Amino acid sequence: MAIKGSCHCKATEFEVSEAPENVTRCTCSFCSKRGSLWAYYTPSQFTLVTPQSDVSTYRWGSKTIKHHFCAVCGCGTFTETPDWSTGKPDFDNPKISVNARLLDDFDLDKVEVVVIDGKNLW
Ligand SMILES: [Zn+2]
Repeated sequence: MAIKGSCHCKATEFEVSEAPENVTRCTCSFCSKRGSLWAYYTPSQFTLVTPQSDVSTYRWGSKTIKHHFCAVCGCGTFTETPDWSTGKPDFDNPKISVNARLLDDFDLDKVEVVVIDGKNLW
């Protein structure tokens, strides 16, 4: 069942095809400061409901990843990234990482938090 998510001010609203079965907490310098819990989707499972022009983007390091956020309320919203499950970026297999903290009507306490050690992996 599709569920909706939004930033605090609702300038960014999105929908994903289903609730995540688990969420990921990454220890890298960016994720630990942002405080996101990530849920991973394919681009076809994600719909941005509000205009793309209201989405702001932060890129750092190799600039392969687009970390989107709301410039009005400051919430980290979603990220466009190649698949990294092999340890290298797979640009043929793009992923959307959604900040699961923004999902509405979803109980984060009901799912497992998977920790990835981004601090030491990249
Ligand atoms: Zn906002």
